[in-house]
Amino acid sequence: MRLNDVRARLATFPKKIAELDARIAKAKSEVDQSKAAQTATLKDRKKYELDVEQWKEKVRKYKDQTSQIKTNEAYKALQHEVQMAEAEISKAEDRLLEQMVASEEYDRRIKASEKSLKEAEEIVRGERSKIDAEKSAADQDLAQLNAERARVVAEIPEDLLDHYERISKRHGGISLAEVRDEKCTACGMRVRPHVFQEMRRTDTKEMFHCETCTRILYYIEPVAAPAPSATQANGASVSATSSSDS
Ligand SMILES: [Zn+2]
Repeated sequence: MRLNDVRARLATFPKKIAELDARIAKAKSEVDQSKAAQTATLKDRKKYELDVEQWKEKVRKYKDQTSQIKTNEAYKALQHEVQMAEAEISKAEDRLLEQMVASEEYDRRIKASEKSLKEAEEIVRGERSKIDAEKSAADQDLAQLNAERARVVAEIPEDLLDHYERISKRHGGISLAEVRDEKCTACGMRVRPHVFQEMRRTDTKEMFHCETCTRILYYIEPVAAPAPSATQANGASVSATSSSDS
């Protein structure tokens, strides 16, 4: 059970780390997005500046032509062209102004997102070192428990161990169940009275299984006087480790 707990602890770390990585990636992509928007704005700005220049150039040309105009009609037509071009200039200048305002906004956004990224990096660095410490503690526990298990397992006859492990595989690593109140604590099924009586006999050599979940049953006679953790020495039952329920 302790090994299962440690393995479950270890299994949570990849997800936690992935969440931290995702947090950084999100903050980075916000910086990238505001920078890309800024670049696009600057490009537009250049284009509108060029537009303004080109329309101004046209106006200059039209005005140069004025001196050669002979008829009133042609003069009016040219005036009209000049007005059109000036309207275009003013439109391009409006767009230019919009882009400049947007550009300031993107500047603010870049700064804000860069600040958020820095903060996220700081937080993640802290979280990450906490996780690393937890993980290395869990790795140590795992190694220690595996060693402890190897020691215990070495004393168990091979066929019994095989039996134990087959049940274990079927039941998520838990192949023993304590009997309490005449019930299997793993599945809640009642143990037949005559089986329970058999289990309570101190001279029994038999192994009992839950009829429902097939786990190996063990029973610890409740102690009348409080005698905490004194059960280990006599070795009569299979169950020395598990009465504490932790
Ligand atoms: Zn059961």
